[in-house]
Amino acid sequence: MNKENNFNPEIIVDSPGRINFIGGHTDYNNGFVLPAAIDKKIKFEFKKNGTSNICNVLSKNYNKFLVVDLAKIKPSKEGWENYILGVLQQLLDRSDRVRGFDCVISSELPIGSGLSSSAALECGFAYGINELFDLKLSKLEIAQLCRDAEHEYVGTKCGIMDQYASVFGKENMVLFLDCLSLEYQLIPMQLIDYSVLIINTNVEHNLSTSHYNKRREECEEGVEVIREKYSSISSLREVTLSMLEEVKKEMSPVVYQRCLYVIQENERVQKAAEYLKSNNFKNFGELLYQCHEGLRYQYEISCNELDFLVDFSKGKNFVLGSRMMGGGFGGCTVNIIHKDFVDTYIEEIGWAYEDKFNVKLDAFKVAPSNGTSHQLLTVKENQ
Ligand code: ADP
Ligand code: MG
Repeated sequence: MNKENNFNPEIIVDSPGRINFIGGHTDYNNGFVLPAAIDKKIKFEFKKNGTSNICNVLSKNYNKFLVVDLAKIKPSKEGWENYILGVLQQLLDRSDRVRGFDCVISSELPIGSGLSSSAALECGFAYGINELFDLKLSKLEIAQLCRDAEHEYVGTKCGIMDQYASVFGKENMVLFLDCLSLEYQLIPMQLIDYSVLIINTNVEHNLSTSHYNKRREECEEGVEVIREKYSSISSLREVTLSMLEEVKKEMSPVVYQRCLYVIQENERVQKAAEYLKSNNFKNFGELLYQCHEGLRYQYEISCNELDFLVDFSKGKNFVLGSRMMGGGFGGCTVNIIHKDFVDTYIEEIGWAYEDKFNVKLDAFKVAPSNGTSHQLLTVKENQ
């Protein structure tokens, strides 16, 4: 494949990142989440290359090139390659129609910052191959196989939210997703005088995969304890506060706090959906602060940089809410801020943050946007 020039794609796919207003770490506990796809995305250009089994994939962001033989797929030592290889493996498990292709990836999403560049990468890649070879996979199948790819090849035991939001997002809408039934409602977001501001700590969350899986295990441990008394329980979603209190003494204080956080967070998400429906952004924002406190003290996945950004916003009446997003230990905060104050606030918090940590932050507005989409540029072969 010619790396830069003369690449005439047959299909272009736009695959968005996502924000999650509230519902941190509830997805893998079969709970509720309130995400939206955003107007920052990864672009994929695809074309068939006429071979039966050779796939060439270029990441322009990393300036790295991956050649895959479809007959010999196995996990790689190179982190980013596993997202590609894992998705290819899942696709081959479901279809015998995949053949050789070339793919160029270019992204405007910050990588590893909690905006789910990983799900955007997986889903956009799967979506493109589905179109290119007419595999007839549904959007839900794409989201699910991408989550499975992340489990099996990358090793992050993530929930379904990131992939779901990236694929199913809608302009100006927030998804109120039930991760147990996988049913969702689209709730219009009419912020009018307010904006959604993302602030990136620019701290890498290197440890997050191991902590992420550990949190998942702690929640499962909690479920096991509760099952001794309530055998029909299969996830924290079905556990009430009073059930948890009944078995509190049977579990470690740490596991208790993890479970308590998840149960309370599920309640917050449901309340937040109601506030969103009634455009009550003040109460909606307050729940974001409560979510952050839970992630900081009960779930223990925040860090000084994230806490600084959230604390800095408190008491400023033009900021309605702020919380950390994503796996934890770095990445971004999501903030609901009055639009007239965005520019001065970015300057003010930027100075204060740099003064404290000697790191520059990035800040940008995002808007709820459409999920994965594609354009066909030439008539496909055989049609
Ligand atoms: P997040 O999903 O919050 O951005 P993750 O750690 O889950 O953070 O995923 C980031 C990983 O996804 C990167 O380390 C890299 O392996 C992969 N990735 C994301 N975007 C790209 C890209 N444009 N090119 C290559 N790999 C990418
Ligand atoms: Mg991710």
